[in-house]
Amino acid sequence: MCDTERQTVEPSLAVLRQYFGFESFRGFQKPIIDHLLAGGDAIALMPTGGGKSLCYQIPALLRPGVAIVVSPLIALMQDQVDALWQNGIRAAYINSTLSAAQVWTVVQQARDGQLDLLYMAPERLLMEGTLALLSQIPLALFAIDEAHCVSQWGHDFRPEYLGLSCLQERFPQVPRIALTATANGATRADMIKLLHLQSAKLFVASFDRPNIHYTVVAKKEAKNQLKRFLEAEHPGDAGIVYCLSRSRVEEVAQWLNECGWRALPYHAGLDKGVRQRHQAIFLREEGVIMVATIAFGMGIDKPDVRFVAHLDLPKSLEAYCQETGRAGRDGLPANAFLTYGYEDVIKLRQFVANSLMEEPLKRVARRQLDLLLGYCETTRCRRQVLLHHFGEVYPDPCGNCDTCLAPVATWDGLVAAQKAMSCVYRTGQRFGASYLIDVLLGKESERMVSFGHHTVSTFGIGRELTAQQWQSVYRQLVAADLLAVDAEQGSLRLTARSRPVLRGEQAIRFRQDPKALVTSVAKTRRVRKDSEPFAEPKAQRLWELLRGLRQEIAQKQGLPAFLIFHDATLRALVETRPLTEEALAEVHGIGKRKLQAYGKQILELLREGE
Ligand code: ADP
Ligand code: ZN
Repeated sequence: MCDTERQTVEPSLAVLRQYFGFESFRGFQKPIIDHLLAGGDAIALMPTGGGKSLCYQIPALLRPGVAIVVSPLIALMQDQVDALWQNGIRAAYINSTLSAAQVWTVVQQARDGQLDLLYMAPERLLMEGTLALLSQIPLALFAIDEAHCVSQWGHDFRPEYLGLSCLQERFPQVPRIALTATANGATRADMIKLLHLQSAKLFVASFDRPNIHYTVVAKKEAKNQLKRFLEAEHPGDAGIVYCLSRSRVEEVAQWLNECGWRALPYHAGLDKGVRQRHQAIFLREEGVIMVATIAFGMGIDKPDVRFVAHLDLPKSLEAYCQETGRAGRDGLPANAFLTYGYEDVIKLRQFVANSLMEEPLKRVARRQLDLLLGYCETTRCRRQVLLHHFGEVYPDPCGNCDTCLAPVATWDGLVAAQKAMSCVYRTGQRFGASYLIDVLLGKESERMVSFGHHTVSTFGIGRELTAQQWQSVYRQLVAADLLAVDAEQGSLRLTARSRPVLRGEQAIRFRQDPKALVTSVAKTRRVRKDSEPFAEPKAQRLWELLRGLRQEIAQKQGLPAFLIFHDATLRALVETRPLTEEALAEVHGIGKRKLQAYGKQILELLREGE
């Protein structure tokens, strides 16, 4: 961009183009930036991948002084700072991984006005020494990242965040922005109250992630379902597989490796060093699958995660959105895949019942679970259900989820529900689904005879359905709260809500679980064509050469390849094949610094390719 042009564009847009190489702002970025530049406080609720960082990075460059970024994610600070330096932005962090001498250097840089952004965890910020330092230097703003951590209703409560309320009293002139991808009402209210942001302007972006395709399948040998999903959709792709327990994580990771995938385990039971190593490999190398408990992922900035698979149910719809939101940050097509079954429903219902939470919290947990199960069992467009949950209106089915692509059949389930419920009643409300199913199917066993259940009126009255179909019926009855689960035994019993069904006063429709795995094969394949291999051999060769060059540059600096250029930038290079520096400067993701640092090498490569 030439200097005369620069004078005519707004400063924030000029900075966006010069430092980040992006053409225009997205969503609420511009109004948020303007608000901070004018000295106001802001709360930004945006989905993962929505572009939160620019909202404070650009004001950090335009306002005098250093911007303080508060984040709980110490492990990611290095990458964040590296990425900023790649764009020619002066950033640093202070945390426990630095030596005293290194901390001192950063403090001096901050004092001397040599930094635009300084990252730290809340506990560091709240140390008296840090607060004293900050009161002596000009501050551009405070950005409180992952601000939902202040709330107990969120899923990552960090008590240190509560201390951040002091910023308003100690630095009343410094604008503050709280950012998060967690949008529920209780968390939002807590952020406002506990961070003293009553006068902040609230910016709520749409939580839609149009490039993510959602699929939920009835669980049946989850590992094999995962394998088929990976084979069909994600050969060679990076992704995350979430499991509930550590042992399951280990088992699945090992199994994937045996099947020829490159998978690494990650959970809180692993040594810190091992966890760090696995995370680094996942970030730096291509095509690695991370098998993890929810201990993994908050703030993971890897843009090319192509899928997130849940082998067990997440804790809530919020957690589900946050976890699946780690896929496709680069805006290219990505998959969210979830398997769930009767056992999951029982386990989670019991988990809530048995937890030591007080009743009001338990009620919240029950409601969260109901919403989650409702999502799994829905026959509507999944995106509509998700967005409705976040208070958004999404008028038409999305066309990019399993229920849109293969509409789910439903069937009149009143008689089946009555049989299933009577069987619960006739056997004394002391048994779980598999026993009840045996009774319905008339599968006599010694145990059944010993209880005399081979003579009850529901014995053998359910032969019109298969065991699997009955399993689905029981799953849906428990999910809909029409049957309750005993907290300890896992046995089923009737509830007040069962009665209208037994009396035939309430219609019931069941979801027919699709037989085949319904995924986005067709869609992904179609996009794959232009996202990865190019049809034209020359373009394909160029793409490979560019990837090689990126890898070489990254390795020299010991950085992940995506910090040098995103795939989207490489693709734009192949498509536009710029041959001059001016043309190169126009390409998405190439700002002034990257142009200077890598422009020559890229142009050489492109010219040779001509
Ligand atoms: P979040 O923190 O909200 O998850 P990020 O700030 O990491 O999101 O941004 C997600 C991705 O979108 C990043 O790769 C970023 O470079 C890109 N991005 C953000 N804003 C823009 C924009 N205005 N134009 C193009 N790409 C953008
Ligand atoms: Zn849909």
